[in-house]
Amino acid sequence: MAEKIDCAVIGGGVVGLAIARELAMSGREVVVLEAEAHFGTHTSSRNSEVMHAGIYYSTGSLKAKLCFAGRSALYRYCEEHAVNHRRIGKVIVACDESELAGLEKYRKQAEINGCDDLRLLDAAELAQMEPEVKCVAGFLSPSTGIIDAHGLMLAYLGDMEAHGGALALASPVVSGHVTDEGIVIDVGGAEPMSLLCNTVINSAGFSAQAVSRSIAGIPEASIPPTYYAIGHYYTLSGAAPFNRLIYPVARQDWLGVHVTIDLGGQVKFGPDFAWIDRIDYRFDDSIEHEQAFYHAIRRYYPGLKDGALQPGYTGIRPKIHGPGEPAPDFVIQGPRDHGVPGMVNLYGIESPGLTSSLAIGEYVAESLKG
Ligand SMILES: Cc1cc2nc3c(=O)[nH]c(=O)nc-3n(C[C@H](O)[C@H](O)[C@H](O)COP(=O)(O)OP(=O)(O)OC[C@H]3O[C@@H](n4cnc5c(N)ncnc54)[C@H](O)[C@@H]3O)c2cc1C
Repeated sequence: MAEKIDCAVIGGGVVGLAIARELAMSGREVVVLEAEAHFGTHTSSRNSEVMHAGIYYSTGSLKAKLCFAGRSALYRYCEEHAVNHRRIGKVIVACDESELAGLEKYRKQAEINGCDDLRLLDAAELAQMEPEVKCVAGFLSPSTGIIDAHGLMLAYLGDMEAHGGALALASPVVSGHVTDEGIVIDVGGAEPMSLLCNTVINSAGFSAQAVSRSIAGIPEASIPPTYYAIGHYYTLSGAAPFNRLIYPVARQDWLGVHVTIDLGGQVKFGPDFAWIDRIDYRFDDSIEHEQAFYHAIRRYYPGLKDGALQPGYTGIRPKIHGPGEPAPDFVIQGPRDHGVPGMVNLYGIESPGLTSSLAIGEYVAESLKG
């Protein structure tokens, strides 16, 4: 006999927690089911911890809208909830004349997306602001920031629990089915149980497609394909030679090996991009891989000394498109998309998912009202 609950959120990453927070605060009974023994151990703790301004994303896309709205909301939230963050700013740089067109493309897209605080910089201004960076031009995005992702998740969790929500760890959703009374989900772990839910939010990151497939009644045609792309980060030994985040103009459909600085002042370079066929966080510490990083970084930071890079960590992008295909938008499917009342599935919540998390929470809660 399944126990009855109002809402189950599958996945205790930053997005699942943000949605659960929003639902709990709107008066719903919420349980977050997290497969691992701790929350946020996958993509939510293996990223750049950057609050993106919303520059790059296609016009009218969910990525553009939710990043722009989410970023402002996140700054306010961090201030009100004492989540460690810093409005550090970032410069996007053209390393040579051939990249100036790319810079202009970003500027135009940023304007369309509502980012109206970008400031164009010539080489002399950039040399003053970032003396170690070699480039011909760039622009400053003052509203890009950095954030403590773990602290943010703790704050979301605290809000949710303060409004009666609960987090169940080591509680993997293993199967389920759709009934006339609601959605039944079967939870494994030490004490297996079944829950009959009015609402189920599938926010299982790169496992979301597998979770959907395990719930009988969700149409297969609504589930996008699953792909993974790994990104590596190297850390820089010694003091930070930069004052802001530094992003080269991207040469591919990802943002290129850029500079992030964490809240402790540690400089990190990455992430790179490689398609992989299964979840494996192992770091490729081959000489060839390391040399590719030195090469990419020295285009804009020629002062990088041999031996200064240390292997850091990896993260895996939850992709829903394969090699050579255009990058799709976030996919957030409600009953109107797949026909299952009370079910919301989130797929392909890659970057800027952290920045967008509060806005995604609101979007999902709103879509359930509809
Ligand atoms: C390399 C990299 C860099 C990034 N940098 C940034 C950045 O700087 N700024 C930014 O805004 N965004 C960034 N992102 C994107 C951001 O990290 C993600 O959008 C966000 O963390 C996704 O959160 P999530 O909760 O959807 O997924 P996850 O954090 O992956 O959470 C999903 C959870 O679901 C759980 N789960 C899986 N299966 C089940 C199951 N069957 N039952 C129960 N639980 C289950 C998992 O254990 C996991 O905890 C980056 C992503 C990557 C990969």
